[in-house]
Amino acid sequence: MLSLAAAALFQAKSRPNIVMIFSDDHGRQAISAYGPKLISTPEIDRLAREGVRFDRHYTTNPLCAPSRASLLTGKYSHVNGMKDNASTFDGSQETFPKLLQAAGYRTAVIGKWHLVSNPTGFNDWEVLPGQGDYYNPAFLTPTGKVVEHGYVTEIITNKVLNWLGQQKGKPFFLLVGHKAPHRNWMPGPRQMTLFSDRIFPEPATLRTDYASLTTAAKTVKMRLDKNIRLAEDLMVDYVPPRMDANQRAAWKKAMAPQDAAYHRRLAETGDLLGTNYQRYLQEYLRCVAGIDESVGQIYGYLKKKKLLENTVVIYASDQGFFLGENAWYDKRWFYEPSSGTPLLIRPAGGAKAARAVTSLTTNIDLAPTFLELAGVTPPKAMQGNSLAPFLGGRGGVTGKSAVYGHFYESDDGDHQAPKYVAITTERHKLIYYYELNEWELFDLSQDTHETRNLWLSGVTRPVRAELVRKLLANMHQLKEDPDLIRQVEAAAKRVGAGSK
Ligand code: CA
Repeated sequence: MLSLAAAALFQAKSRPNIVMIFSDDHGRQAISAYGPKLISTPEIDRLAREGVRFDRHYTTNPLCAPSRASLLTGKYSHVNGMKDNASTFDGSQETFPKLLQAAGYRTAVIGKWHLVSNPTGFNDWEVLPGQGDYYNPAFLTPTGKVVEHGYVTEIITNKVLNWLGQQKGKPFFLLVGHKAPHRNWMPGPRQMTLFSDRIFPEPATLRTDYASLTTAAKTVKMRLDKNIRLAEDLMVDYVPPRMDANQRAAWKKAMAPQDAAYHRRLAETGDLLGTNYQRYLQEYLRCVAGIDESVGQIYGYLKKKKLLENTVVIYASDQGFFLGENAWYDKRWFYEPSSGTPLLIRPAGGAKAARAVTSLTTNIDLAPTFLELAGVTPPKAMQGNSLAPFLGGRGGVTGKSAVYGHFYESDDGDHQAPKYVAITTERHKLIYYYELNEWELFDLSQDTHETRNLWLSGVTRPVRAELVRKLLANMHQLKEDPDLIRQVEAAAKRVGAGSK
C-alpha cells in the first residue's frame, strides 16, 4: 500500500499542470533542435533536450484558424466545422479545455486565439482580436477591450507570468498563443538589428521551375519575388503605423542602414528573389528570436517556482511555414515545410533522456493527449490518438500508418493555393488536387524536397494503387464528405488506381 505521502505525490503527479506554448507559423526549419542551419533557439531546444521531439508531426489542414479548432476539439475540420479562416468557430461543441474544467482544472488562454467567437472552456482569457497587432496591441477580455503599450510577444509573456503567479491549489492548463512569427513580420525592440550582417543559406528549391509539380504551384501567389510586399511585409522603407513617437524613432534608427543595404544589394546583384529571401529571413527569424526569449522566461519562471516537477511544457506551432522553399513564404500546401509542424513535449519532471519520435503524429492527437495526461478518458468522438505513451520512454508504441490532410481555402482572394486531399505515409506522400483533377506522388525517402512527382511514372502500379486505397480508407474512416469520396473514387478509377 502507498504511504499517505506517496499517495499524495502520486495524486499530484497524475494530475500535472500543462503549459502549451503555441506560436503561429513557426516552421521546423527555424528551430535549431530540428536543424541548426538558420537560427539558434536555445530556449526552445531545452524542451527537446529534456523531453521528446516529434519529427513527423503534421497539421492536417495547414492554416491558422482550422488548426486551432482541431487543437481544441481533437477533430478534423470537416467534423468541427472550421474549414477555413473565414469561418466562425462553434464554441458550443465539446473541447478538451471544457473536459479539463469538469475534471477540476483551471484553464486559461492568453494571446493569439483567431477563432472569431469568444473563447469557451477557459476560466480566464485575454486574447488578441483577429490576427492581433505586433505593436501596442489590443486584447479582448471577458470584461471588454484593453490596449497595451509595447511589443506583443513581451506583453503576452508578462500576462502569462502574472497569471501563473496567481495559481494555487488546482491543477491548471494554460494555452500561450503567440502571434509571432506570423506575417507581417515586425521584430521586437531588442531584435531589430539581429542578423543584419548574416547571409542565410538558400534552400535547395528557392530557384525551382516547379517542372513536375501541379499547375497550381506555378500560379500560387506566395512568391518572394512577385507577391511579397516590399513595405508591409519586408518592412523596407516602412514604419509600422501603430507605433508611438519613441517606438518610431528607435525603429527608424535601427532600420535605416538596413534599408540602404537592401537597395544596395539589389542594385549590385539584380537578384530580387535572393535579396528578398535574405530580408524575409532576417525579419521572420527576428520574430522567432523573440519567441525563443519568451519560452526561456516562461521556463525560468516555472523553474523558480519549483513547478517544473509537476508541469508538462509543450512547444508547438499551428502549422509549418515556407522559408524560401519553392520560392515561397506562407503555408497552406501539404508539402513538408507547411504541413510538417514542430512539436516538443517536456514531460513533468523532464525525460530521463532526450528522445526523437519518428512515428507519424498530428495536431488532432493533442486534445486526447492532454486529457490522458490529466487522467481524463478522451471521448470516443475525438478522432486523434493520445501521444502520452510516447512521453514515458516506453517501447512498443506504434504510430499511424498514414496522416490524412484536407485543405479548403482556395478562394481567399490573396494566395490562391489549391484545395486538396492527401495522405502521407512513412515513405510516400499522395496529394489529389480535386478541383484541378491533378495528382502528386512523392517518395520522401529519395526526394526530401518533393520535387519529383512520381504519379505518372516512377512507382509501380501496386504502390500507387495502395496509396490511393489508403487515402480513400482514411476518408471513409474519418467520415469525410460522401460526395468528395465519390469524386476521388471516380478520379482514381479513371487512371486505373481505384481498386486493389
Ligand atoms: Ca498559422
